[in-house]
Amino acid sequence: MSELVKHKMFIGGEWVEPSSGEYLESFNPFTGKPWALIPRGKAEDAKRAVAAAKQAFTSGPWPKMNATQRGALLRKLGDLIAANAERLAQLEVRDNGKLIAEMLAQLRYIPQWYYYFGGLADKIQGSVIPSDKPDMFNYTRYEPIGPCVLITAWNSPLLLLAYKLGPCLAAGNTAILKPSEFTSASSLEFAKLVHEAGFPPGVFNVATGLGAEIGEALVTHPDVVKVAFTGGSVTGSHVYQTAAKDLKRVTLELGGKSPNIVFEDAVIDDAVKGAVSGIFAATGQTCVAGSRLLLHEKIYEPFMDKLLALAKTARMGDPSSMETQVGPVTTRPQYEKVLRYIDIGKDGGATCVLGGHAAQRQECGEGWFVEPTIFTDVKNSMRIAQEEVFGPVLSVIKFKDDEEAIEIGNDVVFGLAAGVWTQNVRRAIKVTERLQAGTVWVNTYRAVSFMSPFGGYKRSGLGRENGQDAIKEYLQVKSVWISTAADVPNPFVMR
Ligand code: NAD
Repeated sequence: MSELVKHKMFIGGEWVEPSSGEYLESFNPFTGKPWALIPRGKAEDAKRAVAAAKQAFTSGPWPKMNATQRGALLRKLGDLIAANAERLAQLEVRDNGKLIAEMLAQLRYIPQWYYYFGGLADKIQGSVIPSDKPDMFNYTRYEPIGPCVLITAWNSPLLLLAYKLGPCLAAGNTAILKPSEFTSASSLEFAKLVHEAGFPPGVFNVATGLGAEIGEALVTHPDVVKVAFTGGSVTGSHVYQTAAKDLKRVTLELGGKSPNIVFEDAVIDDAVKGAVSGIFAATGQTCVAGSRLLLHEKIYEPFMDKLLALAKTARMGDPSSMETQVGPVTTRPQYEKVLRYIDIGKDGGATCVLGGHAAQRQECGEGWFVEPTIFTDVKNSMRIAQEEVFGPVLSVIKFKDDEEAIEIGNDVVFGLAAGVWTQNVRRAIKVTERLQAGTVWVNTYRAVSFMSPFGGYKRSGLGRENGQDAIKEYLQVKSVWISTAADVPNPFVMR
């Protein structure tokens, strides 16, 4: 145990041990071995973190700062992330098994969230309402809401955090981050940069531990006003119901089972790359994974030949090598879950035409690797087509016309994303209009930006992150009425 890196939590601007004195092991998915110890915070630590966030929200320098000053701090944080991008990327590779190539690109992009929301901080304006009442002046102002709990999933900790923390702090709130117990190291390292940027103590806190312990304690704490959650749909629904008891605000970014639809007039080589990027990039561990490939029957065979040929070339192995294309599954339970879903696909009658088992390749060592897996003969009613696997497992489904493609595309409980591959503009517009998804990509896949709204239809979530409106999720509007009348009219009649 002694060689493991032992982390502390960041609460009230200080590095603290968990009150329980207990730690959780954090594993390197490439070696399958623990490398760090993460504090196992519990209810006591949740109370401490919320108290720090509440104090920072109500007193001290933070509430006195104007929006321009808050924006400047956020931009400084962006600069610090940019300066530390390589170090943070390497840490994520070790703790999370993410590819270094993807992490370098992601960490170099994340500063944009802090620049964007830093810039937006002092551009949030209320309005003067043209009053219908005589001698009355009425205006609105947007105000921060209070201490917010930000809960993130394990797949892209700092990116998911940026979606939340940028608008949360730009709006003038304070935050308690509860990262996934499987991948907390980068969030703790990130806290050092927040401190270095000069945010007052308690404005940003990181409380680590299990969801059912410290996560639950944070969501139920009466002084928390909002929960911004990214994770699975079952947990999200539980968090929503728990938070509802105190009428807390909730935004939810949940799972998906996104259709990637290829029409017969698509540029096949592009669409094949899009299919691969949709399901095998990030080892399929992305909420927007294009895990259902819908193929027009006319192009089915040539498309599958090309898809299999490309997928077979995917280089697996050490995620710290720039050459690697498919890394390990991030957690042991997730690795087991992906393999269980492969069995569910086989037992359910689908045909496994690629992979279908744990990777036995020498370059994968002791890591938690699953071979890129493709199922054909999939019916959309099968579990493999309905449930989120969150791994490199693709279900291929044939369709005969646009109507059927849309029907199958929408026939899941989720509605996070969708892909459409066609050269016909009319078809592209018609189909994107009818797909029930928060994001639809045409002739591309997996594009996200700080300036474009992101979120789910149906059971994929509530509310939106990114883009100008995201900040409204962290603000409340106040309507102020000022009478300019010389006297007070009849007090028994509503004005
Ligand atoms: P999860 O639901 O198991 O956990 C998510 C977070 O919730 C973790 O930090 C966990 O500790 C915490 N948690 C668990 N129980 C809790 C409770 N009772 N109270 C408070 N917090 C609790 O999800 P996961 O396995 O970490 O992540 C994978 C899921 O996340 C997938 O379904 C994926 O689609 C989804 N996801 C969605 C998006 C999006 O933006 N829509 C992005 C990334 C991941």
